[in-house]
Amino acid sequence: MKQYDSKALFKLGYGLYVLTASDGLRLNGMICNTVSQAASSPELIAVSVNKANYTCEMILNGGKFNVNCLTEEAPFSVFRQFGFCSGRDTDKFADEKAFCTKNGAPVLSKYINAFISLEVVNSLDLGSHMLFICKIEDAAVLNDKPSMTYAYYHSRVKPKPEKTRKKGFVCKICGYIYEGDVLPDDFICPICKHGAADFEPLE
Ligand code: FE
Repeated sequence: MKQYDSKALFKLGYGLYVLTASDGLRLNGMICNTVSQAASSPELIAVSVNKANYTCEMILNGGKFNVNCLTEEAPFSVFRQFGFCSGRDTDKFADEKAFCTKNGAPVLSKYINAFISLEVVNSLDLGSHMLFICKIEDAAVLNDKPSMTYAYYHSRVKPKPEKTRKKGFVCKICGYIYEGDVLPDDFICPICKHGAADFEPLE
């Protein structure tokens, strides 16, 4: 049993980003909330990526990727496009026009206010996630729209669970709904990869 209240972790503030990468043949993108500046001299960025994501494999192999900084204007469809399916079986860029290409991967043409192209200089296996320490290859501010935060996504973008008679459980992290009477103990959210402990019954 944990000897602490892990709900305290929900008090950490995060932004939301789309990471884009390529393996030379395919493009992929994923939603990520764990991007931060790790040092100022030299300027280094720390990005932690769940190993279950195909993008993680691409970054491990290619060592380069882009951070697309989402704005508050990003609609739920962006999160659906990049967060609710896997690049292993879908082409997330099929209908997407790129603003430009960096590191062989697209920079989004919409709903971002900046991009940062990164090259991995160090990585650390953290268990569920890989932590990548990266140097900046290129970066640009595209506009001054406010950045999307995790808190803004939860309060303004994520659809509210519908009041239905459906039985199920909702992921407190991302809003994914599992339909059924019993949530298996080993259930992992297909979207945010959090476990059953982060689900609560639908009202
Ligand atoms: Fe989730």
